[in-house]
Parts: sequence; structure tokens; C-alpha cells
Amino acid sequence: MVQRTLKRLPTKHKALLSGFALFFLLLLFIPTESAKASKNSQILEVGKRYDVPLIVNTPKQLAQALDDEPLQWQTFKVTKGDTLAKIFKRAKLTPQETYYVSNAGKDAKRLLKMRPGQSLQLLIDDQGKLESLSYELSATQTLHIKRQEANSFASSIESKQLDTRLNYAQGEIKNNFWNAAVKANLSEKHIMSLAGIFGWDIDFALGLREGDSFNVVFEEHFVDGEYVESGKIVAAEFINQGEAFTAILYDDGNYYTPEGRSMRKSFLRAPVNFKYISSSFKKRRFHPVQKRWKAHRGVDYAANKGTPVIAAGDGKVIRSTYDKYNGNHVFIQHGEKYVTKYLHFTKRAVKKGQTVKQGQLIGYVGSTGLASGPHLHYEFLVNGVHRNPRTVTLPKAQPIAKSKAAQFAKIAEKRVSQLNNTKRIMLAINR
Ligand SMILES: [Zn+2]
Repeated sequence: MVQRTLKRLPTKHKALLSGFALFFLLLLFIPTESAKASKNSQILEVGKRYDVPLIVNTPKQLAQALDDEPLQWQTFKVTKGDTLAKIFKRAKLTPQETYYVSNAGKDAKRLLKMRPGQSLQLLIDDQGKLESLSYELSATQTLHIKRQEANSFASSIESKQLDTRLNYAQGEIKNNFWNAAVKANLSEKHIMSLAGIFGWDIDFALGLREGDSFNVVFEEHFVDGEYVESGKIVAAEFINQGEAFTAILYDDGNYYTPEGRSMRKSFLRAPVNFKYISSSFKKRRFHPVQKRWKAHRGVDYAANKGTPVIAAGDGKVIRSTYDKYNGNHVFIQHGEKYVTKYLHFTKRAVKKGQTVKQGQLIGYVGSTGLASGPHLHYEFLVNGVHRNPRTVTLPKAQPIAKSKAAQFAKIAEKRVSQLNNTKRIMLAINR
């Protein structure tokens, strides 16, 4: 488990972890040396108390740190079910102070909606009275509450500018998409959104091949020049088995081809998330999917029992039952022409007659009926004829609204040139 977690970490994190490991290794060699040194110099004595230096962030704190009785900011983690009153009680502050603080103006009302995991900084004087409070609302906003007079507090919100910069990543798939994406420094969030953006065109579970490649331009957010978090993917290109797909983000939050057709289509190529599918190409070469498809008119996705299976498209459940061949199975009718079939579930999640949305959970992978091991057997029928869901030609996606077309074309042109630029940069680096 630990190993798997380590493998999934971005390389940056791995480097950080190995850095820590090295640091602790070095520590092992230090103790005997430093113990001798302190004995010789006789600076530290056993049983005597010493002031530990404070972490100083501001001139005010510096002044306090130099004082005889320094005030120290104390951090209180917000846990589930916490309220300001509960935290103040832990900090040995009075209910009166809770009342005064929560009435310190409009901004102070934000303290009524604290979320678990966040933390509250309190500066308490030597009489045990609250001097000031600070609470990070977001990466860019901090709430400050300061004592004015005896029983009155004032609140203010400090806002910092969020800078957005573009970064890019590029990779070629050797044996699986996840590893190639991690190697390209893509975050888990970006890996999943990339698979989502192209999920209508590419089967990420079984359709990727060695030599497939991707090229991504994404946002990164900074505050005071410090990296805070990654933002949206604004443009991406994926080359799958020689076919290139390009997606551009528009203001409406959706992705379109450079020509302005929605990436969103009536069917997802795979009814399971690729992250659940054992995706070693080598293994697959011994069991060519194509051959298996011809043999039994469906695609098999080997996955652990309990893996969620989703509806490939919007539709209506026309069958949800059990028999000894198909096990627990679900059939969905999509419009007039299309039917999708999902077999061998361990458990079904929908009933006959129910309307389902694309991506909605319909059951869990199992091995009920005639199945040698847990897998999803998936069939795709067009006008009653079995077709390969991974290659069948599907209805063209909706184009962007005419009124937006000109504006989108401008964005698309810029993004495509950014994608091409990153390709040139990478070519130059790798030369
Ligand atoms: Zn099958």
C-alpha cells in the first residue's frame, strides 16, 4: 500500500520524501557529536529551563519575542462539529469573549462557517485575554480580529492578489497512462481531468497504446510569488493510436475542438474509470482485445469486484435482472437507435424503467453468471447490431452557439499556438 502510494506521488513529492529520508539518515550520525560538544562547552544543564526561540513573522511578534513574557500565537485546528465557542473554551477564553468576537462586525460572521481542517490563530495575553485572532479564509483571504478597547473587537479582511500563470506538461506513454502523466509532473487532479476531457473519444481503460502522447497547457495559481495550487487545464492534445484530439477550454467551463464542436458526446468510450483497470499493455498483448471482441461481441474490462460501472450515455433502463448466463445485468436504451448492455455485476444499482444520466452509477463489477473472474462485459448495439463501442462512429457533437463562435475562434487560435509552442520547447530540450 505504502509502495503504491509512493508510486502515485508526483516526482516533486518523491524528491521531497527522499530529501527528508536523507535528512533523518544524517541525523542518525549527529547525536554523539553534538552531545559531546554541549558537555564540553557546559552551556546546557540538565534540569534547568531554557527559552526556546519563537518563530517570528512580524516586527510586532519580534518585539514581543524580545520581551520577558513573550506572547505567542497559538494554533487551533478546526475539527468536525467545532464552533467558535468550543475552540475558545479549549483556549480557556470566556464565553463573553466569544460573544464580543462574533459581534466584531460583518466580517466576523465568517467565523460561524468554519470548516474542519482549517485553523484559527489566537494571540492571548498573560492575563488569559484574547489580544487578536486570525483565520485563513482562503489562499488569498485572511480574516483579522483585533481587540480595540476593553470589550470591543474590530474585524478586517486582508486580501492578496491571486496570480495565474500558464504551465505545460508533455509525455509519451510507455506502459501506462498514469505513470507517463506522473512522470510529466501532472497532478492527480489534472490526470483525472485529462481522462475526463477526452473520455468521449478515447477509451482510457483499454484503448491506449505504447507511443500515445499528450500535451497539456494548464493554469497555476500564485500568491506573493508562492505557488498555491494548480488551476484548470486550458488546452490539451492527445494522440491515441495515431489519431490526434485537441480540446480547448471556453468561458462556459466546457471543452471544444479548435473548430468549435463540443468534446461532450452522447456516449463515453468506456463505462468504467480507467484508474480501476489493470492497464499493463504487455499483459494485453497476449489477449488481443480485438480478437476477443469478435469472439463474443463485447468488450471485457477486468477490474476488482465492486468497481463502479457507469452509464455510457443518457437513457432508460430496459432490463435489470439476474440470469445464470449474464449474472446480474443491466440494459440501457438510448434514444431510438442505441442499446448498451452491462453483464456480470456483483450488484445492480438501477431498476427497470428508471431514467439514467451519462456517468451515473448503474452497478458494480462482479463475476456472477458465466464469468471466470470479476470483469465487466460491455456490449454496444446500433439498430440491434453489435458494434465495437471503442471504435463505432457516433453522432457528431453539438457545435458552439453561433453567437459565441467568433469569440471562441480567437481563444482557440491562441491556445493552439500555445500547444504548438510547448511542443517546440520540448523538442528543443530533448534534442
Ligand atoms: Zn465478455
